[in-house]
Amino acid sequence: MDFEVLETENFLFHCYRSDRDIVQDIANKVEESVLSVSLVFSAPRLPRKFDFYICPNIESFILLTGMHREDYQSWMVGNTDWNSGRVCVISPRAVTDRSEADMYRVIAHEAVHVVMDSIGSAESLPMWLTEGVAILFADQIPSAESLDQNSPPPVGSLSGSGFSSLGGYRYAGAYVRHFLELYGADVLKRVYSGEESVDGYITEGFERDAVLEYKNRCK
Ligand SMILES: [Zn+2]
Repeated sequence: MDFEVLETENFLFHCYRSDRDIVQDIANKVEESVLSVSLVFSAPRLPRKFDFYICPNIESFILLTGMHREDYQSWMVGNTDWNSGRVCVISPRAVTDRSEADMYRVIAHEAVHVVMDSIGSAESLPMWLTEGVAILFADQIPSAESLDQNSPPPVGSLSGSGFSSLGGYRYAGAYVRHFLELYGADVLKRVYSGEESVDGYITEGFERDAVLEYKNRCK
């Protein structure tokens, strides 16, 4: 593959010639997201520069993420692998079913994952929490009307393969937002780093309250 490289403070951005004119915008968005989330959680500096691939097509995305072709689904447009130090997103130009603005939010979402992975391992945490932080800080919580306060999915159900199908990507950002309003960034950081369990903080009606609060704020 024929990538060109742009080096920034925390990343090496790899892009195709066809994305040369947008790589600087993408790099700015990523570094800005890294900085703001790092400030909120007093995150440590990243241990090394990460490779950030702007994949020119789905084929290269599948190859560079190392996923099995049969596991690929069309909603998968970004991927962060802390252990290999690699982030992959599909180029905003190669995605036809999302707007460019949406793809910039996906790019910010992956940058948030990189910072949060420096605080704790996503694998040992509930998915509503790890995805919710990325959704919240990438400004990806959907409109208030699309969330239902009468039957929000319980946090305990939002894990593994059920996460997406039960509405995890719709609700998790509002749940983390509510968690932060109730307990603050220090508690979230302690939970994220594994010092404390999240379970003691999830009280009866947490999900409904989270949705109601989000709806009130959006009025
Ligand atoms: Zn994510």
